[in-house]
Amino acid sequence: MPIKHRSALPTDMLRVFETLPHPYLILSKELFILTASHAYLQLTGKVRAELFEKYLFDVFPKIPDWSAEEGGIAFSLAQAIETGKPHTLPITRFDIPDPDNEGKLLERYWDTTHTPVLDMEGDICYIIHHTQDVTEQVLAERNLKASLEKEKETAAKATRLSLQMEKLFEEMPAQIAVVTGPDLIYEFINPQYEKELFPGRRVLGKPLLMALPEVAGLPVWESLQQVYKTGETFAGNEICIPLAKEIGGKAEDHYFNFICQALRDEKGNITGVLSFKYDITELVLARKRLEQSSNELLALNEGLAQANEEIQVTSEEIQSANEELSATNEELYQAQQSLLKLNDELEERVEQRTLELQNAQAEIAGQNERLKRFFMQAPAGICIIDGSDFVFELVNPAYQQLFPGRELTGKPLLEALPELKDHAVYDILKNVYKTGDTFEGRELLVPLARTPNGAIEDRHFTFIYQARYDTANKIDGILVFVTEVTEEVRTRQKETENEQRFRFLLNAIPQQVWTARPNGKLDYVNEVICNDFGQNADTITDRGWQQFIHPDDMQSCLKKWLTALKTGREYLVEFRLKFHDGQYHWHLARAVPLIENGEITLWLGTNTNIDLQKTNEQKKDEFLSIASHELKTPLTSIKAFNQLMLRISDPQKLTGFVQKSAAHVLRLEKLINDLLDVSRINAGKMEYNMESFNFREMLIDTIDAVQHTTSSHRIILENSEDVAYIGDRFRLEQVVNNLLSNAIKYSPQADKVMVNCIVNEEDNSLIVSVRDWGIGIEEKNLTRLFERYYRVDNTAMRFEGLGLGLFISAEILKRHNGSFWIESKPDEGSTFFFRLLLAPSKKTEPIKNEDHYYKDSSITLSYNKAYERIDADWTGFQNLDTVQQGCSHMMDMLVKNKVHKIFNNNIHVLGNWSEAADWGAQEWFPAMEKAGLRYFAWVNSPSVFSQLSARKSADSSLKKLKIQFFTEAADAIAWINEQ
Ligand code: ADP
Repeated sequence: MPIKHRSALPTDMLRVFETLPHPYLILSKELFILTASHAYLQLTGKVRAELFEKYLFDVFPKIPDWSAEEGGIAFSLAQAIETGKPHTLPITRFDIPDPDNEGKLLERYWDTTHTPVLDMEGDICYIIHHTQDVTEQVLAERNLKASLEKEKETAAKATRLSLQMEKLFEEMPAQIAVVTGPDLIYEFINPQYEKELFPGRRVLGKPLLMALPEVAGLPVWESLQQVYKTGETFAGNEICIPLAKEIGGKAEDHYFNFICQALRDEKGNITGVLSFKYDITELVLARKRLEQSSNELLALNEGLAQANEEIQVTSEEIQSANEELSATNEELYQAQQSLLKLNDELEERVEQRTLELQNAQAEIAGQNERLKRFFMQAPAGICIIDGSDFVFELVNPAYQQLFPGRELTGKPLLEALPELKDHAVYDILKNVYKTGDTFEGRELLVPLARTPNGAIEDRHFTFIYQARYDTANKIDGILVFVTEVTEEVRTRQKETENEQRFRFLLNAIPQQVWTARPNGKLDYVNEVICNDFGQNADTITDRGWQQFIHPDDMQSCLKKWLTALKTGREYLVEFRLKFHDGQYHWHLARAVPLIENGEITLWLGTNTNIDLQKTNEQKKDEFLSIASHELKTPLTSIKAFNQLMLRISDPQKLTGFVQKSAAHVLRLEKLINDLLDVSRINAGKMEYNMESFNFREMLIDTIDAVQHTTSSHRIILENSEDVAYIGDRFRLEQVVNNLLSNAIKYSPQADKVMVNCIVNEEDNSLIVSVRDWGIGIEEKNLTRLFERYYRVDNTAMRFEGLGLGLFISAEILKRHNGSFWIESKPDEGSTFFFRLLLAPSKKTEPIKNEDHYYKDSSITLSYNKAYERIDADWTGFQNLDTVQQGCSHMMDMLVKNKVHKIFNNNIHVLGNWSEAADWGAQEWFPAMEKAGLRYFAWVNSPSVFSQLSARKSADSSLKKLKIQFFTEAADAIAWINEQ
């Protein structure tokens, strides 16, 4: 029989149930309420009569939790009935009416169990429904969970920051070390510390004095000990510490900016010292080298001072972080309190967690504070840029110092520093943000303004961009570490520039220039040396001078060089150097030491080519001996005739001796006059008496006079026009006389000399030529004939003379604005020409003058568009004026038409003056090279003298311009068109 009524239960039992201090409901197997505990009635706000013997779901019909679904009361009851075992529901929320606020509900959580009570046969007699309000426990747990989450998040944040900082310190180009204990034992060093300072030493675990014995006695050692003793932070700038890479190695001066600060334990006791060094050796040395002021260091110091101020701010920040953590702690404490009441186990957990949290918090706070202090005090710029907009989240004072007065913190990068918009660093930043690849920039040029409205300057930075990650390991910002190296880069650039300028200067000197180390080893030679020896600079500096010095000069040269090296006094020696063509050339070598700080740092030397000087000296010596000989010969003869005359009384014989003596006096007079003329010319005191005279008459008189002195040769005046000429008749006679005497003297086997004088109608000039059939002159000697004392070697021995006649003649002709040239072949004879203008020299008038075409009486220029060249065709006799005028038009056309090639035809040139050649080599060709001329094809004139002139003008050491000579115009054209 099923139990439906309370009468089915013994009264004692009923009472026991009813008085139980917990909410109970006793149900029959059919779910009729048999009784309820007072506590249950109180909880549900019902009276016993409302429940007794009522079907359970009639009393609580509408509440979903009473459903038969899994998790509902009906379900639990069915389970208990079916299995005969107690069934507990998961904790369920079931809000109850608020007795104080009608219509409102109170949030409640319930722990419900249904326990079947079985009879002896194992059948269910009734079911105990027990429910317990676990709201407080649930809420406490929920709070605990929330607070744990918060704590976890804070810890993760701190760990992240700490990791980032640690990474930063690892990569920071500053040297960080931690030493502990009174012996200051190395406990930590960052990689920079080891790499930069002691790559060869093991310092970790060693007391500082054992690891770096060289610091003993230095002020920095005192300071470190002082920091350990007093706890006062020590900051020093530009501290010089001589350090050796290995113990016992050579100590080198290192300069540092230094911060040493005490490390303390939780109780505030000093445990060690943290040193933060920033190696500024390069900066200091660079500055010392240039003797620049210490402004930057002052600025750096100011930055550090500012950093100190900001530590204050940081401490406050940390303080508030601590407060926040305390608040969390407080919450935890609250939770712990309530949980204590409910659950001992929970209490234990909370207690333990709280303790852990406190420890972690203390440690994080300490670590954070330390790291932050480093961060703020670091003498290099560090900042954290947040998010994809690159907002300056944290900027340390050193970073701010790079932009004094510019607002950075809180601003997006492009707003704070808009000038970075189009610069590569912005793309680099974006890339680091995208890929997470760390970027290291070295001495990158970034144009940036320093101050808010300051000008944009070219600044150089060495920096690291490193991605920052959030908890989900996603990039959420960038850590920037930067040092400005503008000064170093500029100093280096200046040094390189100076060096280049110096080298350029040395190369520009048209003389051999070299430098040697203090020990005498050659270490630099200029281009002149390379060209002279035909070897490259490295080979020459490697092998030294010895290979080029003449063996006979070697010993004295070595001796002098060694003495100079030993005494530091000037080195001066003359020796012969062998050029690439195998010829020796006399040089005067001179070297002086460069002394810096009392020590020789370099020998700077020059070798001057004195070959010409030496030859001239030789010539001069020869000249003196010839002159004395030449003067002595007629004198001896005169003396001999005088003695004879003294002894002889026969008047006829006497006249003969007087005549012979007079001839020697004449010769002597001529010699003395020549010498006098030369000294007049040298002193610029040769006087000219210009007046009109009949040129033919002058020629005839001179020929007559010379003819009288010779019986071996007949002087024939082939042509002569009857023209008046304005000039110094006496001096021109001297020229003709000299040419005629030479023609006779240098043609001992011949019997005639031919003279011609024609008038060139085209340019109204007189051309005189004197031709002989004598020994002739070799081509190589032609241009030097007009030099003072110059005599062709093989003639000097055979013919008397002083080598002055042609020099004087040339001077006279120059003063008459004339030109002079020679055509000669050895053993066939020579023709000497001179040309004089009948009317005073006028500028040649152009016949046509256009951009593409120019013509006057001496040159025709045309621009050949198809082959992009200028064609120049010279005609007739050229002098300095005509050459200069033609050349200036050539340059004009070159520039106007922007061409680089010239075809220069001299086929129609009859003769020219060597002065134009000097002008060409020294002025015109260098100017043409600058104007863009690169190729110059030169067709020879049939006149050998003109050819020599041409060669002389091309004899300039131009690097970009190529000049090539041809005898055939067709070859020249073919060559120039190929270029
Ligand atoms: P000198 O005749 O007194 O030596 P010049 O100045 O007149 O001096 O001549 C210089 C040199 O030129 C001569 O030494 C000679 O070598 C050479 N020379 C001059 N005229 C002729 C000539 N007609 N034939 C060959 N050689 C000549």
